[in-house]
Amino acid sequence: ALPVIYAITPTYTRTVQKAELTRLANTFRQVPNFHWIVVEDSYTITDLVSSFLSTSGVQHTHLHVSTLLRYKRPRQPRGTEQRNAALRSLRLLRSRNDSGVVFFADDDNTYSLELFEEMRSTRRVSVWPVGLTGGRLYERPLVEKGRVVGWYTGWEAGRLFPIDMAGFAINLQVLLENPQAVFKRQGSKPGMQETDFLKQITRMEDLEPKASNCTRVLVWHTRTEKVNLGNEPKKQLDSVVIEV
Ligand code: UDP
Ligand code: MN
Repeated sequence: ALPVIYAITPTYTRTVQKAELTRLANTFRQVPNFHWIVVEDSYTITDLVSSFLSTSGVQHTHLHVSTLLRYKRPRQPRGTEQRNAALRSLRLLRSRNDSGVVFFADDDNTYSLELFEEMRSTRRVSVWPVGLTGGRLYERPLVEKGRVVGWYTGWEAGRLFPIDMAGFAINLQVLLENPQAVFKRQGSKPGMQETDFLKQITRMEDLEPKASNCTRVLVWHTRTEKVNLGNEPKKQLDSVVIEV
């Protein structure tokens, strides 16, 4: 059987949330053997996300964990506790007999269906280019003779793994073999989440290049513009209350 792809998505309440989740579900619904772990950054799971998921047509797990207020600041990494909650749940519920691949899918990115075909064969940790990131058109691992030997990046090139969250996948068994590997808050500088995590489970020499030796962009670090609500009435004016 095909290994299950577990996509971990931190998400939080905001005007564009349902639109983002709709875009993701429309992609994920088309991927066979797919399990979506949606982790809300909130004190409880919300009705909006619950009812959205129940009719999404995507197999899913719905979790929540609230980011501490003191971490809700610029330059603090986002989605940290949410990704860790998803990892905890996988480690609890999955075992040596389960074959799967784990991938971090932020709710605002854009995913090609081909990306999932590529990552499905991840034996340990695989990598590929990410479009529209690092202040460049793309960042990518540099590959020689089928091995990752360096990085094409425009930002903080000194990082051990200068790669976006959307640029790698991990075999489920690697997560189970490394139960201590988590995303770090303490001492984690902006842009270091990926490096801090990956160095706990792999070395550059062991990375598996995907997407034609990392020469094709199959995922984009898109970011959604903040919505202008300048004309939104202060009190309810419409005759019905509508979820957006
Ligand atoms: N996120 C979250 N809580 C927040 C801010 C962001 O759970 O307070 C989620 C967000 O929905 C996304 C991920 O964390 O899935 C990364 O956030 P964002 O896309 O804003 O980061 P960037 O694109 O700047 O890396
Ligand atoms: Mn984003």
